Amino acid sequence: MTELTLAHGLGLTDLYQAEGLARIDSLFCAHLAAGGADLAARLMAARANPGTLDAKGESELLIALAPQLEDFIAGLFNIRAAVQALAARHHDLAPLYACKRLFVQRRAQRAHKPEEAAAFDPAALEAALVERFGEPLTELSFARHVTAWLDAEAANAEAIDLAVRYAAWALLTEAGHAEHGRGILFKAPHKIDPQHLLPTETIERHGVAMIELPESHLRRREGFKLTDAGHDLVGGLDHAHYCIFCHNQGKDSAPRGLKEKDGSFKKTVFGVTLAGCPLEEKISEMHSLKTEGVPVGALAVVVVDNPLAALTGHRICNDCMKACIYQKQEPVDIPQAETRIAEGRARPALGLRDLWPADALEPAQPAQSRRQAGRADARCWWPASGPPASRSRTIC
Ligand code: SF4
Repeated sequence: MTELTLAHGLGLTDLYQAEGLARIDSLFCAHLAAGGADLAARLMAARANPGTLDAKGESELLIALAPQLEDFIAGLFNIRAAVQALAARHHDLAPLYACKRLFVQRRAQRAHKPEEAAAFDPAALEAALVERFGEPLTELSFARHVTAWLDAEAANAEAIDLAVRYAAWALLTEAGHAEHGRGILFKAPHKIDPQHLLPTETIERHGVAMIELPESHLRRREGFKLTDAGHDLVGGLDHAHYCIFCHNQGKDSAPRGLKEKDGSFKKTVFGVTLAGCPLEEKISEMHSLKTEGVPVGALAVVVVDNPLAALTGHRICNDCMKACIYQKQEPVDIPQAETRIAEGRARPALGLRDLWPADALEPAQPAQSRRQAGRADARCWWPASGPPASRSRTIC
């Protein structure tokens, strides 16, 4: 196990003892006050009278505190350089998600029909784009150059037209899916067909018709090891950006459940209660901070309700995802986003890799709901077209 070296003369045992934690808290309060009296005063007022904050006020306070907490944690664990590098990586990737939403999904998807896109010459389009990019075509290079071109539309009309046609081909045709299916840029959310959640095929064997998953979707389990590595940062951030931050309307159904008008929980067509995250994690707030490039702050917001976030995420359940506001299209893959937040660079940077080796983690049972003790379904919720190759459900 790695010996943690903490600032302020603190040691590992201080993290596990009330006196040490009280000292860390007073150091954090001093750090906060040094950064601005207003925020420190808001925290003290909330601590003194927690009942005065409604859910939205609590969310706003936590989101305001998160960057300050991230800065404090980075100093405490002597990981400033690692945290800054991780935040910079988030900012570097930001053009991907803006380009996906504003250019690929809004513009290219509407500009051409699939049959038109199928008639395009992708090799010629790629060559023309590469010439203009001055570098190979990758999702990130595409997003960066197109975003820059859009700042001067008239001057870049010809280049933008090339990009629209390439994006339409990549998004709308089978050949495009084969080329870009493992990426995130040239994708649009799938509609959900609850009767066809799994992309099964009907085959006949020995005169008997049977269904099976296509070979490309099979994941073979070896011993007790996980069958996938989860999303990488690009994929985790993709789902965080897909979230519409319902906490701003006080309506994040992922932690609190989807409600009927009479206040009871909605159910799926299979009768599964959509009660949301058993731990009522602050999911919308977590996504908001992640998209703003505050990764340790995002982890801290999760840990408020789930101290064992390093052990949960996509390994355990997807109750939050099933209760996402997106009921008719692919929901936000919250478990994957959470796993990426808990396990990304923050985890090793904080020394958690050595404390909880990822390989030692095994699927566990869902935590009991605060509201619904005993509920433990883990039904798959893949789109009819199937999960992307990197997507995982622990229990299917
Ligand atoms: S995860 Fe879904 S329900 Fe929750 S804030 Fe995001 S979009 Fe809304």
